[in-house]
Amino acid sequence: MKIYADNAATTKICKAALTAMNECMEHVWGNPSSLHTIGQEAAEALMRARISMARRLGCDPSEITFTSGGSEADNQALRSAAMIGKRKGKTHIISTAFEHHAVLHTLKRLEQEGFTVTLLDVGSTGTVSARQVADAITPETCLVTVMYANNEIGSILPIAEIGVICKEKGVIFHTDAVQAAGHLPINVREQNIAMLSLSAHKFHGPKGIGLLYAQKGIRLTSLIEGGAQERGKRAGTEDIPAIVGMATAFDEACGHMEQNAAKISAMRDRLIDGLSKIPHSILNGDPINRLPGNVNFCFEGIEGESLLLLLDEEGVCASSGSACTSGSLDPSHVLLAIGRPHEIAHGSLRLSLCAENTDEEIDHILRAVPKVVEYLRSISPVWRDLQTGKREYVIKEA
Ligand SMILES: *Cc1c(COP(=O)(O)O)cnc(C)c1O
Repeated sequence: MKIYADNAATTKICKAALTAMNECMEHVWGNPSSLHTIGQEAAEALMRARISMARRLGCDPSEITFTSGGSEADNQALRSAAMIGKRKGKTHIISTAFEHHAVLHTLKRLEQEGFTVTLLDVGSTGTVSARQVADAITPETCLVTVMYANNEIGSILPIAEIGVICKEKGVIFHTDAVQAAGHLPINVREQNIAMLSLSAHKFHGPKGIGLLYAQKGIRLTSLIEGGAQERGKRAGTEDIPAIVGMATAFDEACGHMEQNAAKISAMRDRLIDGLSKIPHSILNGDPINRLPGNVNFCFEGIEGESLLLLLDEEGVCASSGSACTSGSLDPSHVLLAIGRPHEIAHGSLRLSLCAENTDEEIDHILRAVPKVVEYLRSISPVWRDLQTGKREYVIKEA
């Protein structure tokens, strides 16, 4: 048995998107900038995909710029808002301590270029309030960028409330909605979102494609110079099959959002209930206000990497947090941001589900995880020290 429980890292492409892409690669291979009919067929497919995405997001097609994915969209959003601010002498940016690295590393760069960045504290459940944002805004603030849902611990942030505050104060509000898109409702007008990033491979679309929505009037800074594609804001011949695949997958995801969420969150809650019974374990993220598919735990006395390797042998593909930080020995910045100490932040497990997971798979995970945790503890010197009282537990038993 192979169980895929790492849907926050990427998802398997859905049948509908795959079919649409194959069709497109075979028949719609023209360059949409060409004036002849073969080019214009590609331009039409591009326009249809743009209209479809815009309708689902509640914006105008002209407000969408296709990018190579979430990272590029985040980079372009932050740079653009920063440049707009700079021209008005506003160089203060507000974000949170647990954003994706595509946001945090761009903010670091902007700091080096003279911007001031306030990273809001996300508390122990991993959220910020609209009040916190309001209190942090100064006359110098040019941008608030707060993620819709966190990719590691799944907490959902009060985006619409933050949107209202930003609108009132005349500050550009960007949200990294990469984990939310296709899983949580989005309407950029109703939620007062000025800029939004999403990525197809997180909702069963292809990798290497995403988009940046930017409200009319927000002038985008190009990261890639060249031709006049995407209204001059993103040079390079458009990847029509990928764009069509994204639009198809997004349509599917949005069309089944409620029923998927009900199914997935029921499996999630079963996992959370079961894994909570492991001694000295703790759930990370908000217990209620979380992504339907996200489960994230810390287990005391073990090391996340070994846990993942042994789970893989048990047929369970999981992660210890962000795919972007695996391979580095630093504990997750997200777990540190919610106040988990280093020693337990290393022993984390993220299981992220999708509608293709089954109850049988959940049963299997519920057997495999306690077994592997128990085994790793039995060979862990740290666990022995905890048991003999040489070391104090960080996660106390309730
Ligand atoms: C995956 C992810 C990204 C990056 O998206 P890519 O398309 O892989 O570049 C950005 N933000 C969040 C929250 C993500 O989960």
